[in-house]
Parts: sequence; C-alpha cells; structure tokens
Amino acid sequence: MAIGQFELAVRVLMGLFVVVAPTLLFLGLWKGLTYLRDDELIERARRMEGRSSPSPDPTGIAAFPASAFDGDEGEEAQETVVCDACGTANRAGVRFCRECFGRIPDE
Ligand SMILES: [Zn+2]
Repeated sequence: MAIGQFELAVRVLMGLFVVVAPTLLFLGLWKGLTYLRDDELIERARRMEGRSSPSPDPTGIAAFPASAFDGDEGEEAQETVVCDACGTANRAGVRFCRECFGRIPDE
C-alpha cells in the first residue's frame, strides 16, 4: 500500500514534533529555573546557616532527623517487653507483637 506524499510529510512532521517538543519544554523549564534562581539569596541563606549551627552538614537536613531518631531509639531500647510466643522484644506498652501479631498481656 502506497503512502501519499502529503501523508508521508505529515507523519515525518509528527515524528519531529514528538521528538523536539519535550526537548524544548525541558530546555524552557531549565531556562526558567535558571532565571528564577537568586544567587544572592542562596549565599545569604548559606551564611545564616553557618552562623546558627556549626554543623559540618551544610544543609543541616541530615543532622536533625538523625538526632531525633537516636533519642527515640534510646528510649525504646530501655523499655521493652518480650513476646511470650516468639520471644521478640517489643516496645513497652504495645498490645500486639510486631513479629507474630500475638497478644501481649498487660503488665
Ligand atoms: Zn511474637
């Protein structure tokens, strides 16, 4: 079956559009983000960060959850109740075992 010249041209153009359009959209997004970026604000935020906390992590994101998590864990490690059925150590105060879902009697 022969494809007409017009139809062939339309198909080629559609193919080009499908390839080129996302690239242009991405480049446009990239350009827009670069345009919106405020170097002075970033620099100022970095300086404020250094002043408030001497943490080696420049963002300070990793430091907070780690310390919070550690504190929580330490508390949990002290108060545990051992499951009668499977012997798993569970947090004190829970009603069901986290391993076998068996009921843990109240103390
Ligand atoms: Zn259990």
